[in-house]
Amino acid sequence: MSNSADTDLAMDASLNKALDRAQEWYAKNWSSDLVLSDWWQKLGSSGWGFPAWPQEYGGQGLPSAVARQVVSDRMQRGVFGPRTGIATFLAAPTILTHGTHEQKERFLPGIVSGRDVWCQLFSEPGAGSDLSSLQTRAVRDGDEWIITGQKVWTSGAHFAKYGILIARTDSDVPKHKGLTYFLIEMQQPGIEIRPLREMTGESAFNEVFMNEARVHDDNRLGDLGQGWAVAMTTLSHERDSNNPGVGGGGGTLFSNPDVTHTVDHFRRIQNTEVDAFSFATSGGITEVLNDLVKEFKCANDPVIRQRLMKLHSMRETQKWTAQRAKANARAGAAPGPETSTLKLQSSLTGRVVRDLGFDIIGAHGMLLGKDAPAHGLFHKFALFVQATSIAGGSDEVQRNIIGERALGLPKEPDDSRDKPFRELRVGTQKTKS
Ligand SMILES: Cc1cc2nc3c(=O)[nH]c(=O)nc-3n(C[C@H](O)[C@H](O)[C@H](O)COP(=O)(O)OP(=O)(O)OC[C@H]3O[C@@H](n4cnc5c(N)ncnc54)[C@H](O)[C@@H]3O)c2cc1C
Repeated sequence: MSNSADTDLAMDASLNKALDRAQEWYAKNWSSDLVLSDWWQKLGSSGWGFPAWPQEYGGQGLPSAVARQVVSDRMQRGVFGPRTGIATFLAAPTILTHGTHEQKERFLPGIVSGRDVWCQLFSEPGAGSDLSSLQTRAVRDGDEWIITGQKVWTSGAHFAKYGILIARTDSDVPKHKGLTYFLIEMQQPGIEIRPLREMTGESAFNEVFMNEARVHDDNRLGDLGQGWAVAMTTLSHERDSNNPGVGGGGGTLFSNPDVTHTVDHFRRIQNTEVDAFSFATSGGITEVLNDLVKEFKCANDPVIRQRLMKLHSMRETQKWTAQRAKANARAGAAPGPETSTLKLQSSLTGRVVRDLGFDIIGAHGMLLGKDAPAHGLFHKFALFVQATSIAGGSDEVQRNIIGERALGLPKEPDDSRDKPFRELRVGTQKTKS
């Protein structure tokens, strides 16, 4: 027998064993009558919430291909997933990669059990696409660091316990080299959080002002000055929709569900009462669009039919790209340009759905809230979807990545790359004489 056939057999055996163990555990423990926080706690302690994570940090230590199948089996069985969000899809993989054993033991249990909400303190008013130009400062004071600066677009900061933060610890070296990564407690006197109102009418993200906020040196992730490399780990996970920390949960990305509901009750309300961000990223829009086609009786309209078929072929192409990205992930490669292609495809598909939906509902597009078609769910999606071309790196930035990594084009010219940060005219430094 060839080596690859041996490997396939071993994989099948390991998958069957894992599925049996997981199903046995669900049979004994799962009930939709459980209170949400209790279920997340139980699932977290069992290791079946994030089966790819190491056993000692709340997973089952399964190979990622096996873990994906276990997650998909759980979803098919209707067993509710773990709480997902920035904690699981950005903070945890970064801590798992760069954290010390002590940091993993301290931070991961609260993430696995859904107890702790995290936010991402990266973007600033003058540093989004050009993140390495950020100006928030961290100054050493004994065993602590004093943090001063402003972040923006900080999703979920208003209910976060911790933030993943990049700050400048050295302005005398080039911009990428003087950054350090911290895990900061959000609820402290030096941090002021101001929610921003979006055109959806909701406030999913915030401005965060740090005025001599404090973070202990034990909460530094990675070495001093190595923040850019650590941040790259976070960003590669942010663009990767195959990230095992995403999906399969309760659509809880940026909403703060009432964890005292039963799982059953939360399931019933989650599509109608969640925020626009969670709905737009949950995948539920396909069903909503199909319902609109039926409700507005346009399945025989030749133009709408053409557009529906175009949308279908776009989605099929997207699946193909996702499979390639998954295959690369299985081969152990870091997320590459496929994730950028996937991100571009999904933001484009989102806009096609938006335009098609508005054409289907016509004048009903002027309604808002629960009076609108599909109880306002389509509007939630349509008003939010343009954000997907910006969040996690804009479309133009994704194209640059594809140009450089897939097409082999030369890097964009950047004469600021080798100068000390102090000499650059970026953000608020632009106004200095
Ligand atoms: C819904 C949402 C949630 C977010 N949540 C968070 C969060 O939780 N934490 C966080 O830190 N950030 C968050 N962000 C911020 C996000 O990462 C930034 O908005 C994004 O990186 C773009 O930065 P910017 O808004 O400063 O735009 P800019 O970087 O100022 O870009 C402005 C325009 O210029 C274009 N551009 C910039 N540079 C180039 C280039 N080199 N080549 C070609 N075109 C270029 C951009 O594509 C864009 O069209 C969120 C954003 C959104 C929309």
